[in-house]
Amino acid sequence: MTESTLAQRLLAGDRRALARAITLVEDNRPEGWELVKEVYPHTGHAEVVGFTGPPGVGKSTLIGALTKARREAGRTVGVLSVDPSSPFTHGALLGDRIRLTEHFLDAGVFIRSMANRGALGGLSEAALQAALLLDAAGRQDVFIETVGVGQAEIDIIDHADTIVLVLMPGSGDSIQALKAGVMEIPDVIVINKADHPLTDTMIREIRGVLSLANLDRTPEEARGRWRVPILKTEASVGKGIEELVRSLQEHRAHILAAGHLDERRARNLRSEVLAIASARLRRRLEEELREDPEFQRLLDEVVQRRLDPASAATALLERRPQTAM
Ligand code: GDP
Repeated sequence: MTESTLAQRLLAGDRRALARAITLVEDNRPEGWELVKEVYPHTGHAEVVGFTGPPGVGKSTLIGALTKARREAGRTVGVLSVDPSSPFTHGALLGDRIRLTEHFLDAGVFIRSMANRGALGGLSEAALQAALLLDAAGRQDVFIETVGVGQAEIDIIDHADTIVLVLMPGSGDSIQALKAGVMEIPDVIVINKADHPLTDTMIREIRGVLSLANLDRTPEEARGRWRVPILKTEASVGKGIEELVRSLQEHRAHILAAGHLDERRARNLRSEVLAIASARLRRRLEEELREDPEFQRLLDEVVQRRLDPASAATALLERRPQTAM
């Protein structure tokens, strides 16, 4: 066979092969998993930055501006926009969601959005595979955008090397989420739409939250630590983007120097393996139990309030062979 395989074309950076490959993982097709398996040894080179924050703060606009800057620096870019709340799929919502229209014709930019379609194997799982494919296809910068703050179901963001929280003046909920520890402290905080009069008030509030988070550290720990920068941007006019690029580079240099990048990736890969394994276990369990009369009987007991839910779960697990997985 002289025709090159999908994997070979993907590794050579072929955009159509990349698009096809992402569709395969999105559709949870076995060929998709096979492909990731084949190209995985070629991953780990992309610089992955995750963007999170409430809808409407300007994440897409910011990523558009950043993409422009990175292209001007001669780098190739992949953008993955992950939206668990949207029923659209396969890039149908790209035109309106991602403000990247000026990049559509640039071969150095690959943009893809992924949405939740319920049943098929989980959005996070598919998004993680897609990020690996972008990496394998040689994209030097991979930007992952997710909607919402602290959503457990979208842990894709944890797989970025650098995490950027985007806020705008007035989005107080997000500060609450930081304060309450719902959301982990990000690496970089961006206040977009910074021409708003409340911008500086917001920055002070965030500084307050960050210094609270630092209270339980010894001075020694604090010294070697990354200081989370709070940047002001106006993404729609390209203001503050240079500073953002610089902060991203500084963060990368910091985690490389401190050996944190490897540590962080090892931790992320561990949770990825666990996430895939637990999703599969859950699916298997649900399949096994679908027609199981004993399960039905336990549920009836719970409904009748004769058995509590935790005891029912214990009974369920105790009768299952523990090693069958
Ligand atoms: P996302 O939902 O976080 O991705 O937000 P979008 O990037 O879609 O932006 C939401 C709206 O805010 C759009 O209408 C943008 O044009 C607008 N926008 C983005 N950045 C700025 C900014 O710096 N200043 C102002 N005034 N509007 C902005």
